[in-house]
Amino acid sequence: MTATGQPSTTPAFPAATILGYPRIGPRRELKRAVEAFWAGKTDAATLEQSAADLRRRTRERLAELGLGRDDAAIPSAHSFYDQVLDAAVTLGAIPDRFADLVGADGEIDLAGYFTIARGEGQRAPLEMTKWFDSNYHYLVPEIGPDTPIRLASRRAVTEFTEALADGVLTRPVLVGPVTFLLLSKPASDAPAGFSPLDRLAEVTSVYAELLAELAAAGATWVQLDEPALVADGDVPADVVHRAVTETYATLTADGAARPAILLAAPYGDLGAAWPTVAATGVEAVAIDLVKGSAPAAGLAGLETKTLVAGVVDGHNIWRADLAGKLDQLEALTGTAGALAVATSTSLFHVPHDVADETALDPRLVSWLAFADQKVTEVVTLATGLGSGRDAVADALATATAALADRAQAPGVAEPAVRERTAGLTDHDFHRGSHESRKAAQQQRLGLPLLPTTTIGSFPQTSDIRVARAAHARGELSTEAYEEAMRAEIARVVALQEEIGLDVLVHGEAERNDMVQYFAELLDGFAVTQHGWVQSYGSRCTRPSILWGDVSRPEPMTVRWTTYAQSLTPKPVKGMLTGPVTIMAWSFVRDDVPLGETANQIGLALRDELADLEAAGVAVIQVDEPALRELLPLRKADQPAYLDWSVKSFTLATSGVRPDTQVHTHLCYSEFGEVISAIDALDADVTSIEAARSRMEILPELTRVGFSRGVGPGVYDIHSPRVPDTAEITELLELAVGSVDPDVLWVNPDCGLKTRGYAETTPSLEHLVAAAREVRERV
Ligand code: GLN
Ligand code: ZN
Repeated sequence: MTATGQPSTTPAFPAATILGYPRIGPRRELKRAVEAFWAGKTDAATLEQSAADLRRRTRERLAELGLGRDDAAIPSAHSFYDQVLDAAVTLGAIPDRFADLVGADGEIDLAGYFTIARGEGQRAPLEMTKWFDSNYHYLVPEIGPDTPIRLASRRAVTEFTEALADGVLTRPVLVGPVTFLLLSKPASDAPAGFSPLDRLAEVTSVYAELLAELAAAGATWVQLDEPALVADGDVPADVVHRAVTETYATLTADGAARPAILLAAPYGDLGAAWPTVAATGVEAVAIDLVKGSAPAAGLAGLETKTLVAGVVDGHNIWRADLAGKLDQLEALTGTAGALAVATSTSLFHVPHDVADETALDPRLVSWLAFADQKVTEVVTLATGLGSGRDAVADALATATAALADRAQAPGVAEPAVRERTAGLTDHDFHRGSHESRKAAQQQRLGLPLLPTTTIGSFPQTSDIRVARAAHARGELSTEAYEEAMRAEIARVVALQEEIGLDVLVHGEAERNDMVQYFAELLDGFAVTQHGWVQSYGSRCTRPSILWGDVSRPEPMTVRWTTYAQSLTPKPVKGMLTGPVTIMAWSFVRDDVPLGETANQIGLALRDELADLEAAGVAVIQVDEPALRELLPLRKADQPAYLDWSVKSFTLATSGVRPDTQVHTHLCYSEFGEVISAIDALDADVTSIEAARSRMEILPELTRVGFSRGVGPGVYDIHSPRVPDTAEITELLELAVGSVDPDVLWVNPDCGLKTRGYAETTPSLEHLVAAAREVRERV
């Protein structure tokens, strides 16, 4: 089965494919193998063998699900850690500080590869940042004028050959040259004005060399991922378009021995990049038809290409409306030289197999498609497109029935919830003036200048984790488990009093995770058993499934917070997770607008704030670390997003009295496009990460007129290092130099759950000592 109407001069593109598949293994086999290697329990050969076994099982699984063994339908997209790091290592483009990791053979071995990813002693790893609008994090290459660029690793060829020997002709997947450089940052010693894109010609020639080697090994197709083309970044669009033209002109130049090229543009709309992409010499273009739209008819260059239509959502877990997708595909007939069916993105954003979820409600399961089910959907659609609907009538009918069932199932549309969101007025999104709130809060709380606090969590000790696991297995009764959590809270409160902090927290001991905890208590959510997805490296998260209208059957945090408050005369800060973060870290329903779901969560939280307030809690923090994460990739789409996301926060927080102090927390120091939104959240106090950037955020906030309380982090919790008092004092003086001391709070960068007490206690003691010192001087 090949794409319909494929031009005969190039190898036929498969009729059905996926852009990538989960890499971690159905039972997180790769995670365990990699971590055993890191711990020194196994050697590199053992790790290589585990990875090869997983690759083989993946290929067999994909073939079993209907992808072709001999037509390049099965992608070869393994990674030990991250695909962007893989590209950097393939190019040998690693920073000077890692130069000694290159072996005599010019290659970097597995141990060296992981050192670049994770750092070692004083050597900082590559920085990590978010991959487009997903919750996956990639490593940021550092490119300077002198960074080596040469073909330094042939893993892509080896893995292709390994599969071929097994009887599977795969399609190697690489991060494309333009995206690689657009995702890189200038090396720290690069001269002003240098852009990684300045090295494009050299990078491209290494890709050409690699493509030639792949062709020599027998590869017929290669996939170059160029998602940077769907995002508006700092580099102007015309510069990006020129880079695409140049790179692909080189790669497809006459006489170049190479596989046919699939240029993939997942995660959004090619938009203004379309004419450039269509005019390149690549043989196929994969587009995201879930987030993006079809190209205009008659686009020059497309008539000789295969359009690989990403109609099956690779980024979410809902079963597709197959009949609707077939309509969409049929409408595309004639747009390009040929048409093939694919997922919109790689499937590494979704878990492996819904059949593993034996504890989920079967009715909910029937609405879902994880990676394996999505492969089947793609194959079904390709059959329907090639052989007619009758050939897949049963599958279409089943999908239609599942969708109809979902639409009218209890909980999906709850009249009481819908009435409440429909009845919202402007008034529900606003609090009184900040100035009058500030006076009322000061009177109620009586806090000193430069009040000290923490972000919420205290170390999750092994005792806590052991108790939680025993409770989950049914070996520890709920009473005994809760008693253990209360004992932990009492300990954390006593410790904070001893340290001398001003606003205390209960420490979040009872929370497995800041989103899942709430998902388990709210109606409209489900949690999976095996639904792990890669977050970065070997780290996986298990997003909850937000499937229905959200409401709060009963208070979620009140008894824990009030217990903590009963132990101390100091204010204890209530601790909640905001609507946007709950959505960003869950799989969210696709059948209502995101803004509606955000308001439903906002109302549930609004009720929780009211209950906390009624119970005497005077300070409440609503964390929104993911506010920037869901920001649309195209600038034109950003204002609408910021509108509903900010509103959901103010809906959650604006119902409280003026003398109740609302805090929020954001986990990063570069706000970019969301900087004005921080002000619009209208929180009384905002804590942000700032230690590593040395308070750089403060002048930026001042520039946009931010005048509320602000707690720039003075202690980097990402490292076990204990900052001394002088160091924190210095940061505080810097802060006092750029904002009115009257608005300044003193706190660490983020929550302490990943730290141990050995470093937490002295660090917080130093933080309090520094605040006291600076108080004397201002
Ligand atoms: N309150 C949370 C904590 O302290 C905030 C964590 C976060 O924003 N990432 O753990
Ligand atoms: Zn944080």
